Amino acid sequence: MRALLILLPLSILSLVAALVSCSSPSPEVVMVKPVSGNAQLGSTATYVSGGESGASKKRPDDLLKEVNLYKDYIPKGTHARQYRRSMNPRYITIHSTQNFSTGADARRHSLALKNGKLRAYKRKGGNRIGYLVWHFTTDQDMAIQHLPTNEQGEHADFSGPGNRLSIGIEMCENRGNSRSETIERTAKLTAYLMHEHHIPLKNVVPHYHWARKGLSTPHKNCPHYLMDNGKPGAKWAWFQGRVNHYYKQISGNHRYVSL
Ligand SMILES: [Zn+2]
Repeated sequence: MRALLILLPLSILSLVAALVSCSSPSPEVVMVKPVSGNAQLGSTATYVSGGESGASKKRPDDLLKEVNLYKDYIPKGTHARQYRRSMNPRYITIHSTQNFSTGADARRHSLALKNGKLRAYKRKGGNRIGYLVWHFTTDQDMAIQHLPTNEQGEHADFSGPGNRLSIGIEMCENRGNSRSETIERTAKLTAYLMHEHHIPLKNVVPHYHWARKGLSTPHKNCPHYLMDNGKPGAKWAWFQGRVNHYYKQISGNHRYVSL
């Protein structure tokens, strides 16, 4: 029980109801094999390189391997997935959890999402479903996907475009987790998602970007460690540079061809 209590999400999860004692912290997430990028492309897709400098480029699938992505979806029809709200993603929204508890890593957040522990007040003009939910959580070791990218999350701006049109990524900041490794993994995942969904760099935004109507501070200082004085500035520009660095590795002369 003590283990459960110290894992209570803080800050960003401040609306969260208490963890229910029946959920056991062990075993944790049932992991499936890391995801291959080709999974989205069908069995007949093959990868070719074209153009003179194509050989120097990295395959998107190889970048995804570096991300170390696991799929651990919230079961369909349960908790935050009781509501099927389709999405054609046009943005990627970057957050940080502000959950500094020991052990509040990607696995722990995945477990909490699957067990319906991340609650919020459902109200008109506010949270639409009574749960917080986003698509990916990253930490120093891995990324975990909780929601398919064609379903809306509840992580940004209530009924606004941040929720209706963006893929949400939460970066862990639990004690002992390497921030720099988490940022690099997030930048790689973001670059891969840009490639997969044809999302331009200008549409990779911090949570700050989305106004939360009705709140006294509509623009949240999130992800706080990539903001300058609570707003996008030099640090955010640096992060965009990291994303672009990885995006350039996989974009350009390579293409997929369906046979
Ligand atoms: Zn946020």
